[in-house]
Amino acid sequence: MKLILLGPPGAGKGTQATRLMEKHGIPQLSTGDMLRAAVKAGTSVGLQAKAVMETGGLVSDQIVVGIIADRMEEPDAKKGFILDGFPRTVAQAQALDEMLAKKGMKLDGIVELKVDENALLARIEKRAAETLAAGEAVRADDNPEAFKKRLQAYREQTAPVSAYYGSKGTLKQVDGMASIDDVSKAIDRALAK
Ligand code: ADP
Repeated sequence: MKLILLGPPGAGKGTQATRLMEKHGIPQLSTGDMLRAAVKAGTSVGLQAKAVMETGGLVSDQIVVGIIADRMEEPDAKKGFILDGFPRTVAQAQALDEMLAKKGMKLDGIVELKVDENALLARIEKRAAETLAAGEAVRADDNPEAFKKRLQAYREQTAPVSAYYGSKGTLKQVDGMASIDDVSKAIDRALAK
Protein backbone atom coordinates (compact mmCIF):
# COMPACT_ATOMS: atom_id res chain seq x y z
CA MET A 1 0.00 0.00 0.00
CA LYS A 2 1.45 3.35 -1.07
CA LEU A 3 -0.38 6.39 0.18
CA ILE A 4 -0.15 10.16 0.32
CA LEU A 5 -1.88 12.16 3.05
CA LEU A 6 -2.57 15.77 2.13
CA GLY A 7 -4.01 18.57 4.21
CA PRO A 8 -3.13 21.83 5.96
CA PRO A 9 -0.95 22.04 9.09
CA GLY A 10 -2.96 20.75 12.01
CA ALA A 11 -5.31 18.68 9.82
CA GLY A 12 -4.40 15.46 11.62
CA LYS A 13 -2.13 13.87 9.01
CA GLY A 14 0.35 12.63 11.61
CA THR A 15 -2.38 11.09 13.79
CA GLN A 16 -3.96 9.26 10.88
CA ALA A 17 -0.58 8.24 9.44
CA THR A 18 0.29 6.53 12.73
CA ARG A 19 -2.97 4.56 12.62
CA LEU A 20 -2.51 3.59 8.97
CA MET A 21 1.03 2.51 9.71
CA GLU A 22 -0.18 0.10 12.41
CA LYS A 23 -3.07 -1.12 10.32
CA HIS A 24 -1.09 -1.86 7.15
CA GLY A 25 2.36 -2.53 8.62
CA ILE A 26 4.04 0.09 6.44
CA PRO A 27 6.25 3.01 7.53
CA GLN A 28 5.14 6.62 7.76
CA LEU A 29 7.54 8.84 5.85
CA SER A 30 7.13 12.28 7.38
CA THR A 31 9.39 14.91 5.86
CA GLY A 32 8.65 17.16 8.87
CA ASP A 33 9.90 14.46 11.28
CA MET A 34 12.93 13.71 9.11
CA LEU A 35 13.83 17.40 8.88
CA ARG A 36 13.38 17.90 12.64
CA ALA A 37 15.67 14.90 13.23
CA ALA A 38 18.25 16.44 10.86
CA VAL A 39 18.05 19.78 12.70
CA LYS A 40 18.50 18.01 16.05
CA ALA A 41 21.45 15.99 14.77
CA GLY A 42 23.01 19.10 13.24
CA THR A 43 23.58 17.51 9.81
CA SER A 44 24.20 19.73 6.78
CA VAL A 45 20.54 19.29 5.73
CA GLY A 46 19.52 20.27 9.27
CA LEU A 47 21.67 23.37 9.21
CA GLN A 48 20.14 24.44 5.90
CA ALA A 49 16.56 23.72 7.01
CA LYS A 50 16.52 25.08 10.58
CA ALA A 51 15.83 28.80 10.06
CA VAL A 52 13.20 28.37 7.36
CA MET A 53 11.36 25.71 9.39
CA GLU A 54 11.30 27.83 12.52
CA THR A 55 9.64 30.70 10.70
CA GLY A 56 7.09 28.44 8.98
CA GLY A 57 8.44 28.59 5.42
CA LEU A 58 9.15 25.65 3.14
CA VAL A 59 12.50 23.94 2.84
CA SER A 60 13.81 23.78 -0.76
CA ASP A 61 12.34 21.15 -3.09
CA GLN A 62 15.86 19.89 -3.81
CA ILE A 63 16.57 19.04 -0.16
CA VAL A 64 13.20 17.45 0.52
CA VAL A 65 13.14 15.40 -2.69
CA GLY A 66 16.64 14.18 -1.83
CA ILE A 67 15.68 12.95 1.65
CA ILE A 68 12.54 11.23 0.36
CA ALA A 69 14.43 9.52 -2.48
CA ASP A 70 16.96 8.20 0.06
CA ARG A 71 14.29 7.12 2.51
CA MET A 72 12.33 5.24 -0.16
CA GLU A 73 15.42 3.13 -0.85
CA GLU A 74 15.38 1.65 2.67
CA PRO A 75 14.19 -1.96 2.90
CA ASP A 76 11.12 -1.21 5.05
CA ALA A 77 9.69 1.08 2.36
CA LYS A 78 9.80 -1.58 -0.36
CA LYS A 79 6.31 -2.93 0.29
CA GLY A 80 4.71 0.41 0.89
CA PHE A 81 4.65 3.69 2.80
CA ILE A 82 2.51 6.60 3.89
CA LEU A 83 3.82 9.96 2.79
CA ASP A 84 2.97 12.65 5.35
CA GLY A 85 3.98 16.24 4.55
CA PHE A 86 5.28 15.37 1.10
CA PRO A 87 4.69 16.40 -1.68
CA ARG A 88 4.12 19.97 -0.53
CA THR A 89 4.67 21.71 -3.89
CA VAL A 90 3.69 20.78 -7.44
CA ALA A 91 7.42 20.44 -8.27
CA GLN A 92 7.73 17.85 -5.46
CA ALA A 93 4.67 15.99 -6.80
CA GLN A 94 6.27 15.87 -10.25
CA ALA A 95 9.57 14.67 -8.78
CA LEU A 96 7.68 11.96 -6.89
CA ASP A 97 5.94 10.86 -10.10
CA GLU A 98 9.35 10.46 -11.73
CA MET A 99 10.78 8.57 -8.75
CA LEU A 100 7.87 6.15 -8.70
CA ALA A 101 7.95 5.64 -12.47
CA LYS A 102 11.65 4.76 -12.27
CA LYS A 103 10.95 2.18 -9.60
CA GLY A 104 7.90 0.86 -11.46
CA MET A 105 5.74 1.79 -8.47
CA LYS A 106 2.21 3.16 -8.42
CA LEU A 107 0.33 5.01 -5.68
CA ASP A 108 -2.71 3.24 -4.23
CA GLY A 109 -4.33 6.33 -2.78
CA ILE A 110 -4.05 10.06 -2.28
CA VAL A 111 -6.21 11.21 0.60
CA GLU A 112 -6.83 14.84 1.47
CA LEU A 113 -8.08 15.78 4.93
CA LYS A 114 -10.44 18.72 4.54
CA VAL A 115 -10.45 20.94 7.63
CA ASP A 116 -12.05 24.28 8.43
CA GLU A 117 -9.14 26.77 8.51
CA ASN A 118 -10.56 28.49 11.60
CA ALA A 119 -10.11 25.30 13.61
CA LEU A 120 -6.45 24.83 12.76
CA LEU A 121 -4.76 27.39 15.03
CA ALA A 122 -6.75 26.08 18.00
CA ARG A 123 -5.57 22.53 17.22
CA ILE A 124 -1.93 23.62 17.00
CA GLU A 125 -2.22 25.54 20.29
CA LYS A 126 -3.79 22.48 21.93
CA ARG A 127 -0.97 20.26 20.66
CA ALA A 128 1.64 22.72 21.99
CA ALA A 129 -0.08 22.83 25.40
CA GLU A 130 -0.31 19.02 25.59
CA THR A 131 3.33 18.62 24.59
CA LEU A 132 4.37 21.10 27.26
CA ALA A 133 2.20 19.37 29.89
CA ALA A 134 3.88 16.06 29.00
CA GLY A 135 7.25 17.68 29.73
CA GLU A 136 8.34 17.48 26.09
CA ALA A 137 9.80 20.18 23.88
CA VAL A 138 7.24 22.17 21.86
CA ARG A 139 7.94 22.41 18.13
CA ALA A 140 9.71 25.66 17.27
CA ASP A 141 7.03 26.37 14.65
CA ASP A 142 4.00 25.69 16.86
CA ASN A 143 3.35 29.34 17.66
CA PRO A 144 0.87 31.83 16.13
CA GLU A 145 3.38 33.75 13.97
CA ALA A 146 5.02 30.68 12.42
CA PHE A 147 1.60 29.09 12.07
CA LYS A 148 0.34 32.03 10.02
CA LYS A 149 3.25 31.55 7.66
CA ARG A 150 2.72 27.77 7.50
CA LEU A 151 -0.90 28.34 6.53
CA GLN A 152 0.15 30.88 3.91
CA ALA A 153 2.72 28.42 2.50
CA TYR A 154 -0.01 25.80 2.45
CA ARG A 155 -2.46 28.03 0.56
CA GLU A 156 0.07 29.23 -1.97
CA GLN A 157 2.24 26.17 -2.54
CA THR A 158 0.48 23.04 -1.25
CA ALA A 159 -3.18 23.61 -2.17
CA PRO A 160 -2.14 23.38 -5.87
CA VAL A 161 -0.87 19.84 -5.13
CA SER A 162 -4.48 18.77 -4.41
CA ALA A 163 -5.51 20.31 -7.71
CA TYR A 164 -2.64 18.45 -9.42
CA TYR A 165 -3.88 15.06 -8.20
CA GLY A 166 -7.52 16.11 -8.55
CA SER A 167 -7.03 16.73 -12.26
CA LYS A 168 -5.57 13.24 -12.61
CA GLY A 169 -8.69 11.86 -10.92
CA THR A 170 -6.75 10.16 -8.13
CA LEU A 171 -7.65 12.36 -5.17
CA LYS A 172 -9.98 11.20 -2.38
CA GLN A 173 -11.29 13.82 0.04
CA VAL A 174 -12.21 13.06 3.63
CA ASP A 175 -13.85 15.29 6.25
CA GLY A 176 -11.06 16.01 8.74
CA MET A 177 -13.41 17.80 11.16
CA ALA A 178 -14.97 14.51 12.35
CA SER A 179 -13.64 12.62 15.39
CA ILE A 180 -10.28 10.85 15.05
CA ASP A 181 -12.01 7.45 14.84
CA ASP A 182 -14.51 8.65 12.27
CA VAL A 183 -11.78 10.18 10.13
CA SER A 184 -9.93 6.82 10.24
CA LYS A 185 -13.09 5.02 9.15
CA ALA A 186 -13.68 7.49 6.32
CA ILE A 187 -10.09 6.99 5.13
CA ASP A 188 -10.54 3.20 5.18
CA ARG A 189 -13.75 3.55 3.16
CA ALA A 190 -12.11 5.90 0.65
CA LEU A 191 -9.22 3.47 0.17
CA ALA A 192 -11.51 0.48 -0.26
CA LYS A 193 -13.32 2.09 -3.19
P1 ADP B 1 2.79 20.33 9.70
O1 ADP B 1 2.51 19.46 10.88
O2 ADP B 1 2.57 21.77 9.93
O3 ADP B 1 2.14 19.84 8.44
P2 ADP B 1 5.43 19.19 9.23
O4 ADP B 1 5.84 18.56 10.49
O5 ADP B 1 4.97 18.31 8.12
O6 ADP B 1 4.36 20.31 9.53
O7 ADP B 1 6.61 20.10 8.66
C1 ADP B 1 7.22 21.12 9.45
C2 ADP B 1 8.09 22.04 8.57
O8 ADP B 1 9.07 21.25 7.88
C3 ADP B 1 7.36 22.76 7.46
O9 ADP B 1 6.73 23.96 7.89
C4 ADP B 1 8.50 23.02 6.47
O10 ADP B 1 9.33 24.07 6.88
C5 ADP B 1 9.30 21.74 6.56
N1 ADP B 1 8.83 20.73 5.58
C6 ADP B 1 8.28 19.52 5.86
N2 ADP B 1 7.98 18.85 4.74
C7 ADP B 1 8.35 19.66 3.71
C8 ADP B 1 8.30 19.56 2.29
N3 ADP B 1 7.78 18.48 1.69
N4 ADP B 1 8.77 20.60 1.55
C9 ADP B 1 9.29 21.68 2.12
N5 ADP B 1 9.36 21.86 3.45
C10 ADP B 1 8.91 20.87 4.24
